[in-house]
Amino acid sequence: MNQIKSKIALVVGGSRGIGKAIVLKLANLGFDIWLTYRSNNDAANTVKKEVEKIGRKCELFSFDVSSHAETKKALSDKAEEMPPHAVVFNSGITRDNLLMWTTEEEWTDVIATNLNGFYNVANSVLFPMLREKRGRIIAISSTAGEVGQAGQVNYSASKAGLIGACKALAREVGKKNIFVNVVSPGFIETDMTKDISKDKVLPLIPLNKTGKPEDVASVVGFLCSEENMYIHGQVIGVNGGLAI
Ligand code: NAP
Repeated sequence: MNQIKSKIALVVGGSRGIGKAIVLKLANLGFDIWLTYRSNNDAANTVKKEVEKIGRKCELFSFDVSSHAETKKALSDKAEEMPPHAVVFNSGITRDNLLMWTTEEEWTDVIATNLNGFYNVANSVLFPMLREKRGRIIAISSTAGEVGQAGQVNYSASKAGLIGACKALAREVGKKNIFVNVVSPGFIETDMTKDISKDKVLPLIPLNKTGKPEDVASVVGFLCSEENMYIHGQVIGVNGGLAI
């Protein structure tokens, strides 16, 4: 894949798991990184050092993406100064429960972080990107958002919402040369899935193996590169066949 000349990639939720792998992939492709996270300073600083070892810059931003005010405060002026070339909305949480037991807090926390967070970020950075008439926006959804997952009605709704939001946004901004796509992982080994028994999920996966954060990061790297000149408004599954 062609190396990209220095450009900025904003990776929201880049301190751990899939986000960390995306940060390192984009740094290796030549992007300088704006890495956002909520509270895990140690993890974020470790990733920053790894990016600097690659020879790229990495700026850290700690804020709660579910807060419109915090997100605007952290990102709006930065984006106005230097509109990012790539924006990857990766932050996400789960609060699993059967719907009948789901509390209002479990519902609203997940929607606020996973779906409102996308609005908060895109709304903070889009205008300057539109002025530049270039850019890539990628949201990390989930197989749960495509096919639904019992015990995750809140999470599935938030992830399906991201797909709808990105398809609509792709129609709004395509003419301005901003590509919008969704990457939809299946079962990927991270902190989020560490308590789920592999024995239960493997029979559901035709490739008979779980995915690694790097499997998702490769696809994001491709979508952000100049190799992708015509994929727009799509949902790319990275799931070993979990959703066929
Ligand atoms: P993870 O290891 O739990 O990492 C989550 C990241 O999001 C961290 O950087 C975290 O920051 C950040 N974050 C969470 N809540 C935030 C908030 N309110 N404000 C700002 N940042 C916040 O998750 P992961 O497994 O890598 O998953 C990454 C994305 O892929 C998520 O959207 C997830 O839904 C999606 N996904 C994961 C899988 C899977 O199997 N793992 C499958 C499908 C989709 P801190 O480090 O500060 O907490």
